[in-house]
Amino acid sequence: RRAAFAALKAEPPVTQDGQRVTLMVNAGLRDDVAALDLTGADGIGLFRTEFQFLVSATLPARERQQRLYRDVLDAAGDRPVVFRTVDIGGDKALPYLEHDEEHLEENPAMGWRALRLALEREGLMKAQARALLEAGAGRTLNVMFPMVSEPWEFDEAQALFEAQRAWLASRGKKLPSEVRYGAMLEVPALAEVLDILLPKLDFLSIGTNDLTQFLFAADRAHPKLALRYDWLSVPILRFLRRVVEPARAAAVPVAVCGEMGGRPLEAMALLGLGIDRLSITPAAVGPIKAMIRTLDLSRLRAELPPMIDVPDGALRPRLEAWAADHGV
Ligand code: PEP
Ligand code: MG
Repeated sequence: RRAAFAALKAEPPVTQDGQRVTLMVNAGLRDDVAALDLTGADGIGLFRTEFQFLVSATLPARERQQRLYRDVLDAAGDRPVVFRTVDIGGDKALPYLEHDEEHLEENPAMGWRALRLALEREGLMKAQARALLEAGAGRTLNVMFPMVSEPWEFDEAQALFEAQRAWLASRGKKLPSEVRYGAMLEVPALAEVLDILLPKLDFLSIGTNDLTQFLFAADRAHPKLALRYDWLSVPILRFLRRVVEPARAAAVPVAVCGEMGGRPLEAMALLGLGIDRLSITPAAVGPIKAMIRTLDLSRLRAELPPMIDVPDGALRPRLEAWAADHGV
């Protein structure tokens, strides 16, 4: 099977009925970019910039951040890279970043993390914005904000980047040819204000890891809960459908960048819901591409709705049976 997946490297992720899926990889370190050539992926759909912070003994200086981002863009060449601004804090606490000792967090995943922290630690976010804008000089820069909970947080983060862009321009620095801004949808509340959010976005990326834990109120790292709530369940798929439909109507590209997209049956369901961009762990590219290349997507899109409208807890076996019946 390994050899069969490797043989698919040069083949495009196109379904049986001719629909092209965008298959990207998740990355976080300089060396991860090699996965692009190894897998034949279309780009990096999620570059977790906090990895550099997590492996450093001290706060990475702006120049060091910039060097990493430039190396990643150079190695990716024409393939797009989506840089996620730091998702630190909470359980990814950094020893060198002073924390709020008075308020020890009982629920760090729902605590002061990601954009919540970055918007308050302006110095940190400004340095990262400058590092990204300078690294992206002369090319398209894709920036994505994690844990957006309300549209104003996206506005503030984008304004901070735009202020840095103006400052660099006033200094005569070379700038990205284009800066595209996206939000991660990981907090369910955001789905209730898509009418306000979508017009602001260049793209949306659904982080199903955090989204699932918040939707089911189930800690994503808790071993006793790991098998309890299935990604292939009616609430998850209905929720995703409610997000995908308005996004498609607004012509905002939607990707899924959580682990869900790296499992063939789950990825099949995501495609069936209308998602056509996945960013997954590099090891999953072969198996997911193999699934895509056997899939009649129009047929699945027509036949999926009634399957997810039966709330009987047997969605996974129904999808397994559909896949088996249709040669996927
Ligand atoms: C997610 O939450 O689904 C996601 C992609 O981000 P992370 O796993 O880094 O929290
Ligand atoms: Mg997340």
